[in-house]
Amino acid sequence: MHVNENLVQEIVQEVVAKMQIEDDVQKSHGVFADMNDAIAAAKKAQAVVRRMSLDQREQIITNIRRKTRENAEVLARMGVNETGMGNVGHKILKHHLVADKTPGTEDLHTTAWSGDRGLTLIEMGPFGVIGAITPCTNPSETVICNSIGMIAAGNTVVFNPHPQAIKTSIFALNLVNEASIEAGGPDNVACTVMKPTLESSNIMMKHPDIPLIAATGGPGVVTAVLSSGKRGIGAGAGNPPALVDETADIRKAAEDIVNGCTFDNNLPCIAEKEIVAVDSIADQLMKYMVEEQGCYLASKEELDRLAETVMTPKGLNRKCVGRDAKTLLGMIGVTVPDNIRCIVFEGEKEHPLIAEELMMPILGMVRAKDIDDAIEKAVWLEHGNRHSAHIHSKNIDNITKYAKEIDTAIIVKNAPSYAALGFGGEGYCTFTIASRTGEGLTSTKSFTKSRRCVMSDSLCIR
Ligand code: NAD
Repeated sequence: MHVNENLVQEIVQEVVAKMQIEDDVQKSHGVFADMNDAIAAAKKAQAVVRRMSLDQREQIITNIRRKTRENAEVLARMGVNETGMGNVGHKILKHHLVADKTPGTEDLHTTAWSGDRGLTLIEMGPFGVIGAITPCTNPSETVICNSIGMIAAGNTVVFNPHPQAIKTSIFALNLVNEASIEAGGPDNVACTVMKPTLESSNIMMKHPDIPLIAATGGPGVVTAVLSSGKRGIGAGAGNPPALVDETADIRKAAEDIVNGCTFDNNLPCIAEKEIVAVDSIADQLMKYMVEEQGCYLASKEELDRLAETVMTPKGLNRKCVGRDAKTLLGMIGVTVPDNIRCIVFEGEKEHPLIAEELMMPILGMVRAKDIDDAIEKAVWLEHGNRHSAHIHSKNIDNITKYAKEIDTAIIVKNAPSYAALGFGGEGYCTFTIASRTGEGLTSTKSFTKSRRCVMSDSLCIR
């Protein structure tokens, strides 16, 4: 009998790698074989967390921040290796951002009315155990970001992470539990299952001990969560247009747009996915992108091959999502130097590489005759997601009109899209942007219940 030695070697390596993962997983805190057990453990931990002082909770959060910074490179490499998506350097920055700028307990504010009839407070309390579904595009970033906000609010959390990013998600979740234990808190403040599936997700969504579900991902998961009969926070897909009008600093717009679009190989849901440029400056914008910003202008024939490679009858080719421009061009037989970071072209708004949310550095430019036409096209391209949109303009009237018409949770003016996450812009960071359910950029307060606390005829000392 003929034995294929290479095949045997490959199988052995695969089995050894799997055993290593399972060994690592078994040593991790918060990981269970069964979703019901994960929820039970998180419930037990929540009974402890809810009795902890805000100061103690904050100590856990401080520890999570420190561990995230210390492990930023490991998490970044792990995420890229496991999912095949993204850029290690950019993912390191994302982990520092999440560690430094995700709000903690300071985000909880009390509202008070005091007067002749006493003192009334609105205080923000925990839900209990929150179910969280996380994407493969920002796996550990989302696990850490959700954990910080949810624990700061006094909850614990059970994750059903994307199966293609389970190792990275477990590594992040283990750090969260270690941070809690080291700060004198309980184990299992963040839990998951070894093998997340749609079935484990369904168990979580239906479980009586899960009062709130936060879903970060594409339209399918958000719809599933909103149909669950539970309160849901739905952070769904976007397709952010970057509008450029004739008053913009065109050279800077080219730089900002390409920087935002290529960050982590276009994985962030907020990243520029297409451009709408008014006719009078469109050629100049394209020239700057190609001559100064490392963009490759694809021919019609190359675009056809790219579209065939990137899109399959079943949807996006996952082997293309989060890949860099050089790799994508390599897939259609085009060799380019290392400084090429984005693929650009001009097309109609209906072109599939423009209309679809691709999550890869392919940036189509749609030409518009004036600002009104540009706004109309950008609104169409955003597909009513109400997620993110960007504009480069110095005309306040144009900016205001665009912001009102497109009505998104995020609108960045004259900067790369990542300014919306506090990276080169003011404000806090989140990796769960709930455009569909209206929380917007989630933070600790998004994971709380409002409680009115009334003292009649006393405690007013005015
Ligand atoms: P995805 O929708 O394939 O998966 C996201 C998560 O949902 C995974 O854990 C997956 O296992 C789960 N899932 C998918 N369908 C489900 C269903 N029917 N029931 C239960 N669980 C289900 O998305 P992805 O490829 O991991 O991430 C990319 C998508 O997520 C993009 O559309 C992007 O815009 C979006 N996203 C949105 C935000 C945001 O904050 N709004 C953040 C990151 C990613």
